[in-house]
Amino acid sequence: MIETHCHLDYLKQDTLENILKRSHDEGVSKIMTIAVDPTNLSKVIEIANSHDNVFCSQGIHPHDAKDFTQEVKNTIIQNTQQNAKVLAIGEIGLDFHYNNSPPDVQKKVFEEQLQIALDLNKPIIIHTREADDETKDILKNFLPKLKGVLHSFTAGKELAEFALNAGFYLGFNGIITFKNAQSVRDIVDITPLDQLLIETDSPFLTPVPHRGKENAPFYLKHVAEKVAEIKRVSIEELIKVTTDNAHRLLDL
Ligand SMILES: [Zn+2]
Ligand SMILES: [Zn+2]
Repeated sequence: MIETHCHLDYLKQDTLENILKRSHDEGVSKIMTIAVDPTNLSKVIEIANSHDNVFCSQGIHPHDAKDFTQEVKNTIIQNTQQNAKVLAIGEIGLDFHYNNSPPDVQKKVFEEQLQIALDLNKPIIIHTREADDETKDILKNFLPKLKGVLHSFTAGKELAEFALNAGFYLGFNGIITFKNAQSVRDIVDITPLDQLLIETDSPFLTPVPHRGKENAPFYLKHVAEKVAEIKRVSIEELIKVTTDNAHRLLDL
């Protein structure tokens, strides 16, 4: 299995070495650790560079869009050009649930980072929450060359269909194991197998049956099992196809 989205620098439960060893033992062969703000851009590269099979992204989360300066932008570009382990631009997007940054700033910073991804020919990792129409309106202007994933997908069917038609992947995590997440399971159901990715988004969103514990990549199989159940395929097939998908998208 490939863990396509987590935040290794946020995990507190054990040493990183132990977490990576346990993840490997649980069948996780490769891990993407995702950047979110100016303070962890270099941290995720450090982690990736010091561990085989760990890769990373560069980007500013919509929560932190207000901190996206010209200097930060230059850092993202340089880090991506100079480090082979940077495979994607992300996580970037819009989050109008919390509005930790003003919506207009979020939109502008999202667009600027989409342009970086196009210029550097990298896939994008999108975070979108309660901003379906705006996400679609912005992405439209960057098609058809742009490729990427809408991670932790919880948005509506219309955005899902738009994204799938545009060739994007949808990423699902422990949310699909939650009782009240039938609408998300319905999106899994309509997502073609070859456009599906699995992730944990750890340390957040711990899947059932480990609720209450800090999430980690070693719980990824619970996500895989649930997706396989919804898609009515064997766990082996689900793992094979999502692994191929991750390789294709991230050029692993
Ligand atoms: Zn996110
Ligand atoms: Zn994340």
